[in-house]
Amino acid sequence: MTQILKFWLSIATLLTGLASSSVPSAAQSANPPLGNVPDPQIAAALKDVSPQRIQASIEKLVSFYTRSSLSGQDPNLVNAGRGIAAARQWIVAELERYSKECGGCLDVETYRFVEPPGKRVPNLTEMTDVYAVLKGSDPAGAKRMVLVTGHYDSRNSDVMDGAGFAPGANDDASGTAVSLECARVLSKMKFPVTIVFLAVAGEEQGLIGSRHFAEMAKERGWNLEAVLNNDIVGGDNNPAQDRSLVRVFSEGIPLAAKEQDLRRLRTLGGEDDSGSRELARYIGEIARAYDAGVKPMLVFRLDRYERGGDHESFNEQGFAAVRFTEFREDFHHQHQNPRNEDGVEYGDLPKFVDYDYVARVARLNAATLAALAMAPAPPAHVHFPRGLASDSTLIWDASPGGLATAYEIVWRATTSPEWEHQLRVGNVTRATLQMSRDEVIFGVRAIDAAGHRSLPVVPAPEP
Ligand SMILES: [Zn+2]
Repeated sequence: MTQILKFWLSIATLLTGLASSSVPSAAQSANPPLGNVPDPQIAAALKDVSPQRIQASIEKLVSFYTRSSLSGQDPNLVNAGRGIAAARQWIVAELERYSKECGGCLDVETYRFVEPPGKRVPNLTEMTDVYAVLKGSDPAGAKRMVLVTGHYDSRNSDVMDGAGFAPGANDDASGTAVSLECARVLSKMKFPVTIVFLAVAGEEQGLIGSRHFAEMAKERGWNLEAVLNNDIVGGDNNPAQDRSLVRVFSEGIPLAAKEQDLRRLRTLGGEDDSGSRELARYIGEIARAYDAGVKPMLVFRLDRYERGGDHESFNEQGFAAVRFTEFREDFHHQHQNPRNEDGVEYGDLPKFVDYDYVARVARLNAATLAALAMAPAPPAHVHFPRGLASDSTLIWDASPGGLATAYEIVWRATTSPEWEHQLRVGNVTRATLQMSRDEVIFGVRAIDAAGHRSLPVVPAPEP
C-alpha cells in the first residue's frame, strides 16, 4: 500500500490554482516527521512544569479532608479549611496568584449553578466550577479556545457521604493539579488563541459540573476547538503500572451525531474520525515532537468499561474532547474509605501518587494546548466536489483569521489508526491528488509560517 501511494505521489499533479505550482516529488512526501515541528518556545516552557508544584497542589487539595460536592459550604467549615467550598477558595486564590505573576493576564472566574435533587444529589445543591481565561493576543484568534480540565470534587465508598474522609489524591486532585500547572506555566507566554484552565465540581455526583459548564459554553457560542480532560493521572504506585504511558480515550461515533451524520457514517465510514479522535491523533503527534516523558496510548473508545468522565459532557455539546487516564488503575485506591482490610490498604491517598508522572502528563497537556493555541484555525468546509472521479480533489475554505500560510493534506489507509502521509500544498484552497479517495481517509490542515499545525478536517462529500 505504502509503495503504491509513494509511486502515485511521485507522478501526482496538484491542481492548486497557482499556475506555477510544482509537481511534488516522492522525496518531499517520504519520511518527513508528521505533524508539528518542535517550537523552541514551547519546548522551553515544558521544562518549567514542576513535580514539586504538582505535589504541593495535590497535598493541599487532600488537606481539605473531603471535597465531596455534598460537603457543607457554611463559613465555619470554610474557615476550618474543610469541604469543597474551602478547596474552591484555594483554587481561586492559586489562579489569582498566577495571574498576579503575569501582570493580571488571567481572568479568574467562577460558574455557579444550583443542581436540583437527583439520583446522587439528595437536596437542592449549589455547585461552582472555577476557571481562568488566558485571552488570545490576536483579535480573531482570541475567539478560538482550547481548554484543559480536571474535577476538584472527591468521594469515598459512599457517594452520598459528604462528611467522611475523601482524599481524592489521584481522583482527581491529580487532574486538577494538571490544569493548575498548565495555567501557571502557560500564563508566562502569549498565544494568539485563548486558553481556558478549568476545575469542575460535581463529577462524582454524575458529571454535573462539566455538564453545566459545557452547556454554558455552547450557549455563549464558545468556539472550543479542543478539550483535554485529565481524570486519574496520578500514576498509581502499583507493580503493573507503566509510567511511560498515559491512556487517551476518544469517542468514535460522536455523542452529538445527528441522523444525517449517522447515515453518512453507515455508508462511507468515518467512525474513527470524530473531532475528538483527530484531537487524540494530534496528541500523538505532539508527543513525538516534544519530550514530555510520557507517550499517549490512544484508546478508540469513549471511556473505560462502566466508567464515565467530564469529556463526555463536552462531546454531548458537539465539542472535541478526550480523556487522559493513567495506564493501570488500582480500584483499591479509588472511591474507597481509607482503611486496612485483610492486609490490603484502601483509599485514594497521596502516597500512591507519582508526582513525576503527573508532571509528565501535565507536560503533554501543556504542549498540546500551546501548539493548538499557536496554530491557525482549521480550514472550513473541507469537501470533495460531487461526481465520480479516479483522482481525489479536495476543496476547502481558507483558514479564518489570517494565521495560515499554507495547507497540508494528510492521509492514511482506512485500516490505519494514525495519519501515515502528509503533503504540503501551498497557500491554496484546492488540490487534486492522483489517487482514489475510496481506499484512504484524507484530512486537510492549516499551517503557519513557523510550522504550527491546526487540527485536520476530514472532507465530507458535497451535500
Ligand atoms: Zn474522577
